[in-house]
Amino acid sequence: MRILVVGAGIIGAALADRLTRAERDGRSGPRDEVTVIEEREPGAGTSGTSYAWINANDPGDPAYHRFRTAAMSAWRDLAAGFGGPAWYRPAGNTTWATTEDAKGRLADRVARLADLGYAAELIGLDRLRELEPHVRAPQDALIAHYPDEGYVQGGSAARALARRARESGAGIITGHRAVRLNTEGDRVTGVRLDDGRDLDAGLTICAAGRHSPALLATAGVPLPLVDPSEPGSAAPCLVATTSTARDVLNGLVHAPGLSARQAEDGGLVLEADDLDAGVDESAAPALVRAVGAELLARARTLVPGLTADVAGVRRCVRPLPVDGYPLTGSQRPGLYTAVTHSGITLGPFLAALICQEIHGHESPALDSYRPDRVPARRR
Ligand SMILES: Cc1cc2nc3c(=O)[nH]c(=O)nc-3n(C[C@H](O)[C@H](O)[C@H](O)COP(=O)(O)OP(=O)(O)OC[C@H]3O[C@@H](n4cnc5c(N)ncnc54)[C@H](O)[C@@H]3O)c2cc1C
Repeated sequence: MRILVVGAGIIGAALADRLTRAERDGRSGPRDEVTVIEEREPGAGTSGTSYAWINANDPGDPAYHRFRTAAMSAWRDLAAGFGGPAWYRPAGNTTWATTEDAKGRLADRVARLADLGYAAELIGLDRLRELEPHVRAPQDALIAHYPDEGYVQGGSAARALARRARESGAGIITGHRAVRLNTEGDRVTGVRLDDGRDLDAGLTICAAGRHSPALLATAGVPLPLVDPSEPGSAAPCLVATTSTARDVLNGLVHAPGLSARQAEDGGLVLEADDLDAGVDESAAPALVRAVGAELLARARTLVPGLTADVAGVRRCVRPLPVDGYPLTGSQRPGLYTAVTHSGITLGPFLAALICQEIHGHESPALDSYRPDRVPARRR
């Protein structure tokens, strides 16, 4: 079958890798011909700016928690196949709470996660110092550690997957946008590129992340993603990076008001949900700079003596399904959609399930995450 994958973020790149590896792993049946179309470069979209925490840290929905735990295992297997690449950091996550309310919630979360068999523990300040020697938490903080969590450098991971897919026979077309889905009746038959070329396919997979609704709309196919242009939308956010601050953090650190980890170039990645309120894609440069300065101030409290400065602040948009869960499945004959938030955590696992599914073995694990479900609730 001829398969087109639109988008080479973590989802499209993991899919292309998986589809071509299915060939190499000796899957029976005729060989697929896989072509990826990427408007920019692999990993240049949301995956390259993502905070990229790999986790199943929410016990609220046990089925989704199990799904994400399986996705964490999929990352371990994938990274082993790459020989332990530098872009995969399974270095654990440490977090703490300081108010009584927040301490109660954290203790409850750790207990519920531990009941689900997830590696979650409460630790003391001495253990925090061993794990994160440069970090300071208040004396009275309640501290939790999740040793099996970690992060990836999303851009590098997507590039490595796309490269391996290419080496395994996939065609990777970069610098061209799929401007529309081509159709014959109800069937999607491929895409038209921005240079006018039509590419035909037995199956077109939409893995265009936050841009998926626009592409799908060309064939009248809806996708329930949060609209980033709506006032108060939860999709837009800001992520700062700092200048060099090498080996300051070991794993991920989630302090009240700051999420931080090492960036690939030796700086830090900084994010804070409370600072995203009121941010949209056209946020004024002064607001963006102010958020960067505030993130740095918080980082200097977290890491006393930190000398790094803000190197940049990126406006990002989360591909956020309205109920927070993945959107994966066939939407028309010849069309499969693979769009999700937490796409970094889920990418390799979704790719494996989708690969089985398009080769005739439906994945019951995806049944709750079909794109045409009625979005039941916002997570
Ligand atoms: C600030 C931030 C923090 C996040 N934190 C986490 C986290 O901690 N953990 C986690 O698991 N997830 C996190 N996410 C979500 C996660 O990053 C995304 O779910 C994931 O990166 C989506 O990957 P993707 O491949 O679907 O999209 P993308 O990476 O955006 O890839 C889509 C690609 O499609 C290309 N494209 C789009 N339209 C077209 C077209 N018409 N033709 C050709 N190419 C096209 C784009 O150029 C892009 O490269 C975060 C996201 C953000 C923004």
